Amino acid sequence: RLFVTGSTGELGRLVIGELLKRIPPGRIVAGVRSPDHEVAKQFVAQGIEIRVADYAQPETLVKAFQGIDRLLLISSSADDGRLAQHENVINAAKAAKVGLLAYTSLLHADTSALGISEDHRRTEAILAASGVPHVLLRHGWYMENHVHLIPTALQHEVVLGCAGEGRFSTASRGDFAEAAAVVLTTEGQAGRIYELAGDESYTLADFAAAISAAAGRPVAYRDMPEADYKRMLIDMKLPEVVAELIADADTGASRGELEDGAQQLSALIGRPTAAWRQAVERASTAGD
Ligand code: NDP
Repeated sequence: RLFVTGSTGELGRLVIGELLKRIPPGRIVAGVRSPDHEVAKQFVAQGIEIRVADYAQPETLVKAFQGIDRLLLISSSADDGRLAQHENVINAAKAAKVGLLAYTSLLHADTSALGISEDHRRTEAILAASGVPHVLLRHGWYMENHVHLIPTALQHEVVLGCAGEGRFSTASRGDFAEAAAVVLTTEGQAGRIYELAGDESYTLADFAAAISAAAGRPVAYRDMPEADYKRMLIDMKLPEVVAELIADADTGASRGELEDGAQQLSALIGRPTAAWRQAVERASTAGD
């Protein structure tokens, strides 16, 4: 049986949807924090077993992973204590003798200098030391991170950032989810490392130009120093940790850390990745 942690999250629910296309619901177990979550209720209605698996409560994990052959650990969204949470999951998977653990890491986590890379790198090291057979799904930047900026960009006719000429090989959550489902349902995955990113890359100036073309209005990219961009995000009421993460990722992109041309994601899912221009077009004309 296959287990997906964080299954009620945005990525997790897409992974469950992709698994349902490949295997019967009776082979899927959805890990949830709360069985009362609306998405958890939908899983039950679809014939999927749900089990409480809270990363911060190890006793729930050991119980939840009984009889599980393959497990997807979706990295935690917690601001604090992520690493300890991931360690809890890995220890419980080991205790339950899970046959394969797939972990959603970060693109080039071994060499990345992004602030968020540290927890991923250390999780990968804990996994390696654990002896649990595992496969690394190193995710690039989610396309939706940029698409969400479009309403504000249209309102102010500007895209702000600190990525300079850096290129982003973003991919959609749907494509990352499909890749996870393929890996979970295919033999011979232990020991593999996938660098997962979109087929095409773009700069934030390309992104602004695409919004402008789709909406028929001027939208330009304005590059800022990282500290100013972070301050502006905080002024826009984003929590400081989130502002830090976004600004830091842009700076990482300016060093080329979110670009990847190897096209391993499309190879894994057997088709081109979702096109960023189409996603921009849809979001830029949504209110028309
Ligand atoms: P979501 O915030 O939608 O989902 C996170 C999931 O983690 C939720 O299901 C949440 O549970 C679960 N979770 C959080 N804390 C715990 C816990 N203590 N125990 C069990 N489950 C927990 O994020 P996404 O699905 O969009 O993204 C998945 C992960 O990918 C993120 O957590 C983050 O690490 C990473 N990410 C990467 C991005 C990138 O661009 N590379 C962008 C965004 C995220 P619940 O549903 O109960 O809240």
